Amino acid sequence: MGEGQSNGRRRPERRRRSAPAATPMIEQYLDIKSAHPDALLFYRMGDFYEMFFDDAVRAAAALDIALTRRGKHEGRDIPMCGVPVHNRDPYLERLIRAGFRVAICEQTEDPAEARKRGPKTVVAREVVRLVTPGTLVEDGLLEARSNNHLAAVARATGAWGAAWLDLSTGDFTVAAPSLDSLAPLLAQVAPGELLVSDALAKAPELAEWADGATALPAVRFDSAAAERRLREAWGVASLDAFGTFSRAEIAAAGALIDYLDITQKGRKARLSPPRRQADGAAMAIDAATRRNLELTRALDGGRRGSLLDAVDRTRTAGGGRLLAARLAAPLTDPAAIGARLDMVGFFVADAAARDAARAALAGCPDVSRALGRLCLGRGGPRDLAALREALARADALRRRLTEAAEGALAPPPDGVAAAASRLGAHDVLIERLTRALAPDLPPQARDGGFIAEGYAVALDEQRALRDESRRLIGALQSEYAARAGVSSLKIKHNNVLGYFVEVGAGHGDKLLADAALFIHRQTMAGAVRFSTVALAELADKIARAADRALALELELFDDLVGEAAARADDIAATADALAALDVAAAGAALAVERDYCRPEVDDGTDFRVEGGRHPVVEAAGGGAGAAESIDFVANDCALSPGARLWLLTGPNMAGKSTFLRQNALIAVLAQAGCWVPARACSLGAVDRLFSRVGAADDLARGRSTFMVEMVETAAILNRAGPRALVILDEIGRGTATFDGLSIAWATIEHLHAVNRCRALFATHYHELTGLAATLDDLACHTMRVREWKGEAVFLYEVAPGTADRSYGIHVARLAGLPPAVVERAETVLKTLESEEGGAASSRLSDDLPLFSAVRPKGGGTAPPEATDPALAELRATDADSLTPREALELVYRLKTLAGE
Ligand code: ADP
Repeated sequence: MGEGQSNGRRRPERRRRSAPAATPMIEQYLDIKSAHPDALLFYRMGDFYEMFFDDAVRAAAALDIALTRRGKHEGRDIPMCGVPVHNRDPYLERLIRAGFRVAICEQTEDPAEARKRGPKTVVAREVVRLVTPGTLVEDGLLEARSNNHLAAVARATGAWGAAWLDLSTGDFTVAAPSLDSLAPLLAQVAPGELLVSDALAKAPELAEWADGATALPAVRFDSAAAERRLREAWGVASLDAFGTFSRAEIAAAGALIDYLDITQKGRKARLSPPRRQADGAAMAIDAATRRNLELTRALDGGRRGSLLDAVDRTRTAGGGRLLAARLAAPLTDPAAIGARLDMVGFFVADAAARDAARAALAGCPDVSRALGRLCLGRGGPRDLAALREALARADALRRRLTEAAEGALAPPPDGVAAAASRLGAHDVLIERLTRALAPDLPPQARDGGFIAEGYAVALDEQRALRDESRRLIGALQSEYAARAGVSSLKIKHNNVLGYFVEVGAGHGDKLLADAALFIHRQTMAGAVRFSTVALAELADKIARAADRALALELELFDDLVGEAAARADDIAATADALAALDVAAAGAALAVERDYCRPEVDDGTDFRVEGGRHPVVEAAGGGAGAAESIDFVANDCALSPGARLWLLTGPNMAGKSTFLRQNALIAVLAQAGCWVPARACSLGAVDRLFSRVGAADDLARGRSTFMVEMVETAAILNRAGPRALVILDEIGRGTATFDGLSIAWATIEHLHAVNRCRALFATHYHELTGLAATLDDLACHTMRVREWKGEAVFLYEVAPGTADRSYGIHVARLAGLPPAVVERAETVLKTLESEEGGAASSRLSDDLPLFSAVRPKGGGTAPPEATDPALAELRATDADSLTPREALELVYRLKTLAGE
C-alpha cells in the first residue's frame, strides 16, 4: 500500500493503485478524527493530505475535486479525496473561506522506523496545527494589506473585555469597552474569527457577530487561569508590567492565548506586549457607518472605491496595514493626532527626505509577517532573506534621515526622530544572513540548497563529496561507453531506479553480453537499462552526502532562525518604525499630489472646513491615478454654536450626499492623523461618528428597509453626545410622506435639544426648513441650482438658504421618463402647490398632533418640549387599514421608540 512513504523526497504517484485500506490505518484515522470532530482532517499520506468519509464528501464538493474510494469500512466504501502537500495553500484558502476549519495531521516518524516495529505497523501521526480563519500566517492565505484579527470578547463582573491579535505579526491589543462602545470596537477590529464563551454566544449585545463566532466552553475564559497563561506567554512574573487590566480583559486575552495553544499545538508565537486601547481613545464608528462611508471597504466588499483605496500611497504591506488600522480607529486625543500630522508635515516640507524614504521603502519585504512565521516555526529561507533585505533598507533609511536632520534648519518632529532611531543596529544579523543565504532560495528549508557556499565548512565538504561523486559518474560514463563500444551510452537518474546506465534498444545485447559488469534492470520500448556495482556505490555516496548536507542545512537554518528570534523585539520595533515612516511619507506624497492641508484638531466642538472636497469622488473623476482633479466644486462647512446643525435641502443629484460624506471623511482622515482634502480645516475631536442613509437596502438581513433606517436612527438618538458628528441623509424617506416628514422633524428636534451634537441633515422635505425659525442652532443651507433655458443646472455649491423647488421632475426628465409623463407630473405639481399655498408646514401642524405638540408656545424661542414619539406614532396610525406585516412593523417601531 501507499501508506508510509517517506516525508522528504518526492516519490512517483503509486498511491492511486493502492490496496484496500488496512484496518490499523483506518483505526488510527478514526482515533485522530474523533479528537477533531469539528475540523476537516488533512491526513498526511506521502505527498498528499487525504480526507476520508464525510470529510471527503464535503471537501470534494467545496473544492470541486474528484471524490474517490479507498477500501471498505464496516462493509461500506470509504469515500476519499486528497490535496497535494506541496501545493496545499490554495485548497486551504478555499476551505477556510467556505467556513471550514482544517486539522493538519502529519507523519511524525520515518516510515523505516515504523517498519522496524512490524510489517503492518502504521506510521505515527499527529495533528500539528489547526487552521482556522483567525490563525493564518501564510502569505498565500492572507491579504498583504489587511490585518487578520483573532478576537475574543468576555464579560466579568458585569463589565466587557475584548482582546485581539494578529498571529501573522504578533500585534496584541486589549480593551475594556463600555456597552455603548462594544459594537463600534468590534466593527473596528473586524475579526477574521471571534471567540466567545458558550454563555455569551447568545448575548443580544453580540447578535451581530454571533454568525461565524467560535463558541468555546466557559472555562477557557476563566480569568484566574487566564492570568497564569498571560504571564507565561510573555514570560513575566506579573502583568503589572503592561498596565492594569480588568478581569474581563484578562479573561478575553487569556482565551486568545489558550486558543493559540490549541490551534498551534504547543508552538509558541512571538507576541508583542499587549497594548491597551483605552475606552474613548478611538472614534467610535459602528458597522453601519463604516459600511456607509466606505472607509476601508466599498459597498461591494472590495477595496476599490473605499476611502482607504483613494488615500493609500504606502509602499509596503506593513505601511498599508497601519494606514488601514488608523482609518479604522481614528484617535480622539489632539496631542496624539498632532504628532502624526507633524510627521506628515515633515515629509511634505522636505521633498528630498520624502523621495529618499519612498525609494527605500519601495519593494521592501513584509518583515513583520516573515518574522512572525519564523518565530512560530513556520518560516522558510525566503523569510530569512526578507528580514535581511528589510533590515538593510531600514539601515540605509536611518542613515539618510540622520544626514537630512544634520543639514536641516529645524529638528525633525519627535515621531520621525523616534522612528528613525528604531531603524538600525541590526548590522550583525544582516551581515550573517548575507553570508549565509544562497542567491536562489527554495520555499521550504527541507528542500535544501539555501545555504551559500563558503558559509559552513562541514556543509561545503559534503557538497564537495557529492560533486566529486557526480564527477566520477561522468568519468564512469566515458569508461563504460568505451568498454561496451557504444558511444551513445548514457548514465541517467530517476526516482525509481536511482542512477542507471542506458543504451538504445539496438545496443542492449552488447551490454547483456558483458554480464560481469552490467546488471540488467529494465527493458523499455526504445532503451535498455542497467546498473553496476561501482555506480550503485557512487549513488550511495551521493545520497549519503546529500542527506548529511540537508541535515547540516537544517541545523544552520535553526541557528539563523534562533538568532533572528533572539532579536525579535528589536526587529519588530524596526518593522513598526518602517510602517510608521511609510504612512507618513505616503501621506505627504498624497498631500502634495492632491493639494491636501494639515487639519487642526483640538478639544473644542466646532467643525470648520474651508474648501473641502470629497477624497474619493474627486480622485475618481480624474481617472485612476491621474494627478489632475476633476472640476470638483469645493465647499465650506462650519458647525459651531448658532449653527451646530445644518439642514441641507436641494434636488436629487445636486450633491447633498457627497457634501455630507466628504465632511465625515475629512473628520476621519484628520483624526487618523492624515492631511485632508481642503484649503483649511479645524475641528474639535469627534468622539462618535454616525452616518445614516434613508431606506438603505438591507434585504439580506431580512429586515424591512424602513425598519433598518429607524433602528439605525434610534441608535443615533440614543447614543450621540455633544462631541459626536452625525450625518443623516434623507431620513424618513422610506415611508409615506407625512409619516416620513414627521419622523424627520422629530429627529431634528431631538438632535438639537437632547443630543446637542454636530449634525448635517440632508432632506428633500422643504417643510423642515421651517424649523430654523424655532431652533437656535439650526442653520439652513441649500445646493445651488441655476435655471438656464428652462433647464436646471447643478452648481454643486452649498449656500445659505433653502431650496425653492424640488427639481424632482427635472431629474425625471433627465432619466428619460416619457415626455407625456413628465408633462402630466408638472401639471399635478402646479395644482398641488397652488392648493398648499406655501403654508404646508402650518397646515401639517394642524393635521398631525405631533407637530402641534412640539410647536413652541409664543415667540418661537422656547426649546421644544419633549414629546412621546411612540404616542404620536400610535395616534397617526389608522388601525383598520394596516396589513398584518405593517402591524408587525409598527410594533417593532414602537419597541424601538420605547428604547429597546
Ligand atoms: P444628492 O445626494 O443630492 O442626490 P449626490 O451627492 O449623490 O447628490 O451627487 C450626485 C452627483 O453629483 C455625484 O455622483 C457627483 O458625481 C456629482 N457631484 C456631487 N458633488 C459634487 C461637487 N461638489 N463637485 C462636482 N461634482 C459633484
